[in-house]
Amino acid sequence: MEQSVTEHIDKAKKTLFSFELLPPLKGQDFESIQENIDPLIEFNPSFINITYHQQEVVYENLPNGLMKKHTVRKRPGTVGIAAAIRYFYKIAIVPHIICGGFTREETENALIDLQFLGINDVLAVRGDPQVGTKKFVPEPDGNVYAVELVKQISNLNKAIYLDEELLNTRSMNFCVGIAGYPEKHSESPNLDSDLHFLKKKVEAGAHYIVTQMFYDNQKYFDFVKRCRKEGIEVPIIPGLKPISTRDQLLSIPKTFNVDIPSDLVKEILKCDDNKQVRQVGVDWAIQQSKELKEFGVPVLHYYTMGKSDNIQKIAKAVF
Ligand code: FAD
Repeated sequence: MEQSVTEHIDKAKKTLFSFELLPPLKGQDFESIQENIDPLIEFNPSFINITYHQQEVVYENLPNGLMKKHTVRKRPGTVGIAAAIRYFYKIAIVPHIICGGFTREETENALIDLQFLGINDVLAVRGDPQVGTKKFVPEPDGNVYAVELVKQISNLNKAIYLDEELLNTRSMNFCVGIAGYPEKHSESPNLDSDLHFLKKKVEAGAHYIVTQMFYDNQKYFDFVKRCRKEGIEVPIIPGLKPISTRDQLLSIPKTFNVDIPSDLVKEILKCDDNKQVRQVGVDWAIQQSKELKEFGVPVLHYYTMGKSDNIQKIAKAVF
């Protein structure tokens, strides 16, 4: 059995390498996933995360001029992909589990599936609002905040199922990661409030935090300091996403509530095309990674967004 994320961290004598994958768009196969994993295997990833995506609402134009509403899951397969990666590569896999789109019972059943597949790591997040909407809407009888999801997983770790009358239940053994936001979550009124709720997730049983992307390491250093002051003692893994297109200068701050430092903006504006932007993003992430490694972060975790050539260049320079 592979080690869990925290077992890896506890045993490590140096900064570890890990990355996050998106399930491919519907219609692709395992080979399209391998194309992103294989270039990164030589850097010995300790674990691989795989995101979970809610259904989206789409509108079909009908010949009579009216529109028909559908819901589709464009990136299905998280649990199957997690199992396939685990068995093919023998690397710890961390599927994301989200509140959105799940009743509590469906969540319990998904966790039971994972347990039977021998997958004991999860990252518990609330999930984004559905594409095209601004407000997160939970399922009736679904978990509303990530803290409730963490509590549900912690209960299963103590053999407490939703049906408390079940007899002879066995405890599960999930190692639970959660999300943290060095520049605060977009819906949070301020960082104090966000840290208050972050601490609740840790008290509910989360074992470690993975941060939202950031481009100024000082934001991460300050965040770690604030967390420690609040009594949040679990490992805080920095998440890095190299910039890859010029459009991201606008979309990243808007979508993720993350600042882009002026020096990085200037370098990107000098580029003639996105090929050059991608290289600037790689160079910036290498500098960030080297400084974070020097600081002694437990893991450097990279968001691949479905293309790993830039992460390969970064890993070559850093690991
Ligand atoms: P929560 O911890 O529930 O917090 C959400 C907001 O509510 C915050 O502003 C918080 O301060 C506030 N809050 C928390 N508890 C309470 C409470 N009890 N009362 C009032 N306010 C409260 N999205 C996906 O859809 N799929 C993924 O796979 C995915 N993976 C991610 C991985 C990482 C590392 C990160 C950083 C994000 C990921 N996301 C993913 C995005 C995430 O779902 C969104 O950022 C989401 O908006 C918040 O998730 P959360 O778990 O931080 O929510």
